Amino acid sequence: MVEKISCKIDITLLHHTPLHICSNAIRTCWQSFDKGDCGGEKDIELIDRVGNKFKHASTLEHLTYNFYIKGISRACLQELARHRMASFSVKSSRYTLKELKDEPSFLPINEINTQRAEKFIVFTSSERVNHASIHALENLRQILSENISNDLAKFAMPESYRTELSFSINARSLQNFLSLRSSKSALWEIRALALAIFESLPEEHKFIFKDCIAQPPTH
Ligand SMILES: Cc1cc2nc3c(=O)[nH]c(=O)nc-3n(C[C@H](O)[C@H](O)[C@H](O)COP(=O)(O)OP(=O)(O)OC[C@H]3O[C@@H](n4cnc5c(N)ncnc54)[C@H](O)[C@@H]3O)c2cc1C
Repeated sequence: MVEKISCKIDITLLHHTPLHICSNAIRTCWQSFDKGDCGGEKDIELIDRVGNKFKHASTLEHLTYNFYIKGISRACLQELARHRMASFSVKSSRYTLKELKDEPSFLPINEINTQRAEKFIVFTSSERVNHASIHALENLRQILSENISNDLAKFAMPESYRTELSFSINARSLQNFLSLRSSKSALWEIRALALAIFESLPEEHKFIFKDCIAQPPTH
């Protein structure tokens, strides 16, 4: 039992800058605004040529993507937060940990309790590790039910505990993130996150990032 990888990452792209803002920035250099086609084929070709092929990548910084990410572990958050060229607002354990307080026990480990635990923790491919996470979750629940404050209880949180965040990043930094984190050498969860972020991008923007994806999606 409990031998599965369950990322269950939920990504919503809340907002993104239209392509013509980027092409307009590029055209500023040549004052060639009259050649634009408002994010159409000409603008796309220009962005790909100047931003990607000529490596005038600062022009890509005019494109920003605002995501809401749900369900990653705090282990994954720790890796994501190393990307300094991005903005983060993260669900606070100090203010929200009481969400566990009124839960019934997560033990014994059976199908129902495992499903309940999965709402709070990310499972791995190892049953041994997943059982340890459920026990850690139960320890945390018991601490909170004894009215110990969130500020103390949070020090007993497992790294597998799920979190959520608002995440904003510009296209240049997103290229760097996708290159590093879609790689096979990246940890499996942040790799899944990187691929899911790529999938959530508007179709007409994917050309900017497709060469950064280590293993292109099959569809
Ligand atoms: C496979 C893998 C293994 C890793 N293992 C570890 C590990 O064991 N321990 C660990 O601590 N981290 C580890 N990391 C994290 C890694 O060191 C980076 O912190 C992380 O990938 C963010 O990359 P970044 O600095 O390029 O991104 P960002 O912080 O978003 O920076 C983007 C770019 O801005 C520029 N930049 C940003 N800050 C500076 C600066 N101060 N000076 C000059 N240029 C700057 C660089 O060009 C950088 O690439 C690992 C990452 C990967 C992908």
